Formats: sequence, structure tokens, C-alpha cells
Amino acid sequence: MMQFVSNTGGGIPVDFETAILDGFASDGGLYVPKELPKISLDQLKDWKDLGYVDLAFEILSLFIDPSVISEIELKKILKDAYAPFEKSEVIPLYKLRSGKDTYIMELFYGPTISFKDVGLAFLVNLVDFFLTRKNEFKSLIVATTGDTGPATAYFTAGKSNLSAWVLYPKGLITEEQERQMTTLPHANVHPVGVSNCPDGGDDLDLVIANLYANIPFKEKVHLSSVNSINWGRVMMQTVHYFYGYLQVVDTIGEEINMSVPSGAFGNLCAGGLARKMGLPVDKFVIANNTNACLHRIFSEGVFSKQPIFETPSSAIDILVPYNFWRFLYFCVDEDATKIKKWSDEFKASGKVQFDRETHASYSQGFLSTSISDEQTLDRIKTVFDTEDYLLDPHGAVALAAVHQLKDKLGDKKLVCLATAHPAKFPEVIKNALRVKTIPEAGKHHSLEKAKTLLEKVDLIDCSNLEDELLNLMNADWDLKHNTKN
Ligand SMILES: *Cc1c(COP(=O)(O)O)cnc(C)c1O
Repeated sequence: MMQFVSNTGGGIPVDFETAILDGFASDGGLYVPKELPKISLDQLKDWKDLGYVDLAFEILSLFIDPSVISEIELKKILKDAYAPFEKSEVIPLYKLRSGKDTYIMELFYGPTISFKDVGLAFLVNLVDFFLTRKNEFKSLIVATTGDTGPATAYFTAGKSNLSAWVLYPKGLITEEQERQMTTLPHANVHPVGVSNCPDGGDDLDLVIANLYANIPFKEKVHLSSVNSINWGRVMMQTVHYFYGYLQVVDTIGEEINMSVPSGAFGNLCAGGLARKMGLPVDKFVIANNTNACLHRIFSEGVFSKQPIFETPSSAIDILVPYNFWRFLYFCVDEDATKIKKWSDEFKASGKVQFDRETHASYSQGFLSTSISDEQTLDRIKTVFDTEDYLLDPHGAVALAAVHQLKDKLGDKKLVCLATAHPAKFPEVIKNALRVKTIPEAGKHHSLEKAKTLLEKVDLIDCSNLEDELLNLMNADWDLKHNTKN
């Protein structure tokens, strides 16, 4: 049976169910599979014509033992998870007319119209499945730069074994994203708007790590997280790389390039692991905005934290791409002592300079760049004017990166990941197109409807966040559990 271990070496190996339900590993590290499964070209050939859900079943089956979830149960969880998606293909690919063999992978047809739906639809349903079977309850806590929060809230809403505490940096996400969290009527969803976050969403991650380290509290409220610290997110996100590849290639084995707008590196960690499993990708493009931590890691070999910039692609305004540590584990022969040493060094000093050999190893097959606000807006306008296709600011960052790196990419087929629907960012779109009213392609019925609904939210100042959350979550737990009967 496949086992999961911490990438920083602490604790004991656990089974799949424990890895998913715990979120963080017991030593505060990130769970990784003890061995990555390998996929042959023959296997890929057999999968060529599978739809998204059937392909997901095949890939997840490599990680999940049928004694933990039976095949029938896994199929049902997947089918239910993707039933609310707007398109039957789940994640369709759109071929651009200009640009040779360039495809946009549209990851935004889930209920909260961002790519976070793709991972969380499955993960939240999976957690719910385990908890129902054990007759247990969990409090989920997530931090969001705008999209994880709505998706977590949506998929948790109304589930009797779960509550969700959804923290967002007030003023640093769009009103549309905020309303997706605050207008759900369900009592088990608790949106928390946090003001005065000097480091944006990264401040919220820190508070979550502290709550996790508070063992009596963590055990009392059965704390867990479905942020991309959770292995289930990364595992599920490997699927869209395989799907996109199989959709666009003429012959299995042909190499393609893929470009990904990146923040915490959860999405690209999955891409990098998919390639290590056998997916023929020549180059992954790491597309950062001006918050360019990943670009510095990959181009210079330096992991360093710098002050935050507010950009039009706010979902990737992230300073510390924590999933890099998970990927790095697989690039240093699974040597957890190295990961532990570097991540401690980073916590202590805010900076790690990797040695030449390590840098060469992890950066192989990646190109990176940092895209300015102006380049992002220009790309939205150019593509809209020439193609009548409206990109969101994050898809635009990915496509702008391709444009910038085109000499290094050659003429292989290219899949560019579009991670959100433009309707989540109306002010950016108006700005980019230099118009006063949004074109139809920039609207979405779910967001129009949310404008008419009542909002419910706790507002907390960042400096008091940990204490106030302890109070709120304790009180909610007592109300629900101690006073029962
Ligand atoms: C979360 C998010 C990303 C970045 O994904 P990471 O896994 O954090 O790198 C990109 N685009 C959008 C719209 C997102 O919500």
C-alpha cells in the first residue's frame, strides 16, 4: 500500500487517509508519497481518449489503495465532484487562432469559476467521505488570495461533518471574490475578512501554522486544512496536466510546453511531479507577476522573501511559494534532511542560497519570468482585439510569459493554463480594455446573482487574528458539540 511521509523527515509514514485528513504532517512538513508512480507511454496511449473524470480515476488509483477507497466509491466521489461544472469536458481547451498551436486550458468552469474548484471539488468531497465513514467532524481552515476561499466555502457548505473557516486579506481581493464567500447562507461556513495584512495572504498562512502548532486547540476542534499544503490538492492537480497533454498531441511521446501563472507553486508542483511520473513535457514556464519569488528561485538559485506588490493578478500576489519545498524533495533524491535544513534556514533568515548542483537539478526543464502589470493588461487587450477572446489577468500573465520567452520555447505545441474567469476581475478588465462597461464575456451569472444576496462575515484586524480566531472557533465548537443532547 502506498505510504506518505513528511518532506522534512519527522513523524512516521502514514496511509493515504491520514495524509488527507491531517493536512500538515505531524512535524509541520508537507506530506509526499514515499515513491512516485511511473507512467509508461503505452499507458498514456491507453488513456488517450478518456474524458477528464475517467482519466482522473486512472491517475488517482496509482496513489489510492482500493482497501482505503474502493473503485466504486472513488468513481462516485469523482463523478459527484465534477457534476456541478458548467462544461461536460470539465476543463475544455481552446485553440487560439493566432500563435501556432497554442491552446488555452480553461480551468474555470467550476461553481466558483477558478482553477481552485478543480482541486477542491474532489478534495472536500473526499474529506467528507472519510469523515462520514468514521462518523467524525473536522474544522477546515484556509487562507486565500481570492480563489481558494470561495471554492472551499462552496464545497463545504451544508456538509454536516465539516465547517470551514475562510480567511482573506480584506481589500486585497476583488469584491466579486469576497461576495462568493460572504453570501453563502450555510451556518457551517465562516468567512473572516482580515484587515491590515502587511504581507497579504502570507500573513494568514503564518497564523494557520501557529494554530496547527497549538496542539490542545488543534486536537479539540479537529483542525485540518485544504490549502495546497494538503497532498490531495497537489495530487488532483496532476490530472489536468495529463488531460491537457492527451488532448493536444498527435502522437503520444511528442513533447509539448506548458505555461502556468504561479503563486504558491501548488499547481506547478503538480505539473513537475506529473513530468517526473512520465508526462512528456519539454518546458514548464513559471509565470510570476512582479511578486517574483519563484523567478528568483529558478533563475538565480535564491529563495528569498521580498515586500509584496499589489498587482492586477492578485491571486498570485504570494511571497513564499511553500509548495516549492515539496517539489524540491523529489529533486534531491528524496533527502528530507536537506529540506529540513533549508526550510529552517529560510524561517530563520528569510533567505536560502542553493548550491549549484541543487539549483541545476530542480531548475531543469523550467523557464521562469516576471510579468509587469502593463504587460498583463496589454496581453488581455491584444488577445481580445485580435481573437475576441477574453483572458483573465492570470491567464494573461501566463500568455505574456510565453510571448516573452518564445525564442527559448521553439515551435512545440503549447498549453497555457487559464486559471480564473475574467468576471472575477471586472476593474482589471475595464482598465485593460479601456472601456467603461464590461463586455458580455467578462460577466458571469453567479456573480451577478451574488450582488443581490445578504453578506455575512467576521472582520478582524491582522494583529489580533490568532487570539480572535481561537475565541471564535472554540465558541463555535462548544456550541455545536458540548451542548448537544
Ligand atoms: C491560486 C491561483 C493561482 C496560483 O496557483 P498556485 O498553486 O498558488 O501557484 C493562479 N491563478 C489563479 C486564478 C489562482 O486562483
